[in-house]
Amino acid sequence: MQETIIEAESINAAAKGSSSTASGALGDFALKNAEEMQRWQDDFCAMAGVYAYCLDNTGNPFTSFSGNPSEVDIIKKYVTDARIKEIFRRVSESDLEDQAVELTEVPNLKLAAVAVKDGQRTSAVWIVCGIFSDYDYDKEYFHLPPIDSFGYKTTETKFYRTLDLLRETLNILINIETSRSQAVAISEESKQQELEMTNSFRRAETMTEIVSLLDSDDGIEEIMSDVLKKLCAYLEVSNGFTCKEHHNTLMDIVVQWTAPGAKKMFTETTDQDLCWFMGSEKAVVVSSDTQMNAGEREQLDELGIKALVSMPVIVNDSALFYVCVTENNESRIWSIDDVKFVNDAIKVLQSIITKRLQKNSLASSFASLEAVLDNVGSSIYVRDIGTGVILFANRSFKKNFSRELSENSIAELFESNIPPRSRSGNYEIHHKDREKWYDVYYTRIKWVDGRPVSLCAIYDITEKKLYQRRIEQQAYTDFLTGLYNRMCCEKDLARYVDEAHQKGTHGALMYLDLDDFKHINDSLGHQYGDVLLQDISKAISRIDGITNSCYRMGGDEFVIIVPPQSFELLETIIEQIKNTFATPWYLKDSDYYCTMSMGIVKFPDHGDNVSELIRKSDVAMYEAKKSGKNRIAEYSDNIDSSSVHRLDLEKSMYDAIKKSCSEFEVFFQPVISEPIDFNRGVKQYKHLGAEALVRWNSSKLGFLNPDEFVPLAEYLGLITPIGNHVLKKACECLRMWNEAGTGEYSVSVNLSVVQIMQNDIVDVIKKNIEDNNINPHNLVLELTERLAINDLARTKQTLLDIKALGVRLALDDFGTGYSALSSIRALPFDIIKVDQNFVKDLAEDDYSQAFIRMMAQLGGAIGADICVEGIETQAQLDALKGMGVKYVQGFYYDKPMRRAAFEEKYVYN
Ligand code: C2E
Ligand code: CA
Ligand code: CA
Repeated sequence: MQETIIEAESINAAAKGSSSTASGALGDFALKNAEEMQRWQDDFCAMAGVYAYCLDNTGNPFTSFSGNPSEVDIIKKYVTDARIKEIFRRVSESDLEDQAVELTEVPNLKLAAVAVKDGQRTSAVWIVCGIFSDYDYDKEYFHLPPIDSFGYKTTETKFYRTLDLLRETLNILINIETSRSQAVAISEESKQQELEMTNSFRRAETMTEIVSLLDSDDGIEEIMSDVLKKLCAYLEVSNGFTCKEHHNTLMDIVVQWTAPGAKKMFTETTDQDLCWFMGSEKAVVVSSDTQMNAGEREQLDELGIKALVSMPVIVNDSALFYVCVTENNESRIWSIDDVKFVNDAIKVLQSIITKRLQKNSLASSFASLEAVLDNVGSSIYVRDIGTGVILFANRSFKKNFSRELSENSIAELFESNIPPRSRSGNYEIHHKDREKWYDVYYTRIKWVDGRPVSLCAIYDITEKKLYQRRIEQQAYTDFLTGLYNRMCCEKDLARYVDEAHQKGTHGALMYLDLDDFKHINDSLGHQYGDVLLQDISKAISRIDGITNSCYRMGGDEFVIIVPPQSFELLETIIEQIKNTFATPWYLKDSDYYCTMSMGIVKFPDHGDNVSELIRKSDVAMYEAKKSGKNRIAEYSDNIDSSSVHRLDLEKSMYDAIKKSCSEFEVFFQPVISEPIDFNRGVKQYKHLGAEALVRWNSSKLGFLNPDEFVPLAEYLGLITPIGNHVLKKACECLRMWNEAGTGEYSVSVNLSVVQIMQNDIVDVIKKNIEDNNINPHNLVLELTERLAINDLARTKQTLLDIKALGVRLALDDFGTGYSALSSIRALPFDIIKVDQNFVKDLAEDDYSQAFIRMMAQLGGAIGADICVEGIETQAQLDALKGMGVKYVQGFYYDKPMRRAAFEEKYVYN
């Protein structure tokens, strides 16, 4: 039979980089409030015509499927939990994919997953199923007929658009927990900077507009009203007016401006009482907190003014007009910039009026224009478009661009980007020699003498550019430690490798992994784990030669690149890294040592491609770990042969798991239980048990014992499918053996901590018990401490949940690991298996005997039975006499054997 066709396509949507504009409050709400989320999701599905539900970051359902329940049931038949788990894993574990779409056996049913991510971390995944009304049944080969007449239907295009929409909406909705106070502070700061930046741009823009009025043919009043309007709008004030004084005590309002929604100040415009802040040739600035006498205050109150800036427009040495901007709605404190801006604008106005009034006197108008422009903050020049001659450059321009002026390169520098027929506009230029960026505002106007000129105002925006760069930089920075992140590492490494290639130099890459970091994390708490990571980051990035090339790859893994220019320092750098870890870290009032294992590769010697180099450094690091941690291994071809083996192993293992684990065979070793017949030492016992021990009959690598592949399987996370396979086989045997016998056989299965960490472990165990209808008491699950337990609270809860199923739990290899007795009391173990090491010299060693006796007593006190494994001789067995050991196991009875052999000897005899 042909296998079901499952095609998959993936969309790398990560690159679109949804902005993290989510608000904290909304985000928290979104993750915590399942009901609210359900309602939203129901609405969304109804709108988009899809069936969907949400999984949290651990893969547990957070909402339930939206859509008609009976339709959902049909969908679930084809979109099984296993498939959902797989697609969840696919989008949540990958750095690149945050969306995946897969076909199902049903021609018009597609399954998609959309992950909402915070950087690398997944915070939620939506599973979306679409029933397609536009499938082409003839085009493809399918086993099953299509599903029809469903309430929600979609089309190919609509479905993808729905996924996009979902992802984008969720990215906004779900703010992820990393936004701690730090992040908030950073974003506050950048908001502030953003604001300042926007302001300075608005200012530049407005000023350029005002300056371009120089060219206007409009009447003075119109220009005045234009300037006032721009000025008031820029300052965001409620009112403004210009007036002309007469008879020393009166004034006529020439133009007035009122913001939308504000109250007009003057209904009568002629013969108003002259305001006290006018009449002099000085500017008057009144903020809401300015002190003044009662008379002055009264007049302001009458006019409803809360703050004002008033300035005379001086033409031919006398104040011809006054321009006044006022804030009448709310209090206002003027900034220096505000006042300067008013001043600049009025100077321009002054010059326009002067020009109008002295139409015939070009020279004097030019002089006053010059005076004005000289005082404007930005750099301005005017160039004759016909001859190319610079007609005018203001003081700021001359100061900043004297070199370019003398080199005659102004037009080339600032005007080469102006489109031919454009009258005005702006663009950015990068001045490479100066490492500066400028914004250029240009207008093409008629100069005072009528010839066409270009007027350019130039603003230095280097600060803004640097700021933007910094934002980009943030994408390359590890939040916790401030080091660069993996993405940056890959980018930099590519550059360094290139450089080494081109110049014939060398560099190195070091992969550093902390040893037993988890223990510090567990014993001191995550905050201190974080502090340690930060301290380490600081320490390594202080080392000469690598200050700018340390990266955190995630967790407790770091990469250090020794760039070509520091390569000759390599030995010293390594020495200093070693020293860094040879000194203790001061955490929580005490000194802690933390060692590390490091792998080194050199480039281009060991490879010239980024992923190959990182992988090889990882291989070397793994080598260092394997040979006992706290050491440094340099990559070499020798390592390579063993690591090639490791890579072979890795690849074969993936393949073997794909082939539904059929290469993994379960062996059984008898476990003898009380009453142990010490005299005969064998073979008549009341209860019998067996420990299930896995073997791998690899088609490529031959027969492998667990020691040769279980650690790697754990490292790669592959122990879960293998372990599940063993559990399944063991439970099947358990059922058959008990059906054949008295029902008192028990089987022990080894569970890796990695398995315990899986969210569905309780369900998996439960299912095996139910499927085989076994008495849970007969199933013993053995847990080793080989891997550090990361989250004790969660582990304990899981173990309690497993125990609640009725199965028994055993603590394996006791006495080898870090197991503190207290942790036994904290965890609900029924059996403690004393490690083989205590058995080796059991017959002659007092310490071993005392230890086992003590364990047996302790076991009695906490209600746990003791199992001693590794019994190889009668003498060892004898030494246990009278100690209260409940179970024994060892080659003395039998080695682990194939199922058939075990059954023949222990089950069906
Ligand atoms: P373990 O759980 O401590 O298993 C007992 C190991 O001791 C077995 O090795 C067994 O063959 C060996 N042994 C039993 N009696 C004696 C004896 O008298 N003398 C000596 N020298 N050895 C004895 P094995 O089968 O090679 O398994 C090694 C380890 O691999 C196991 O240690 C267990 O930690 C792991 N392992 C085996 N199967 C599985 C599995 O299905 N899942 C997981 N997670 N780990 C497994
Ligand atoms: Ca075991
Ligand atoms: Ca053991």
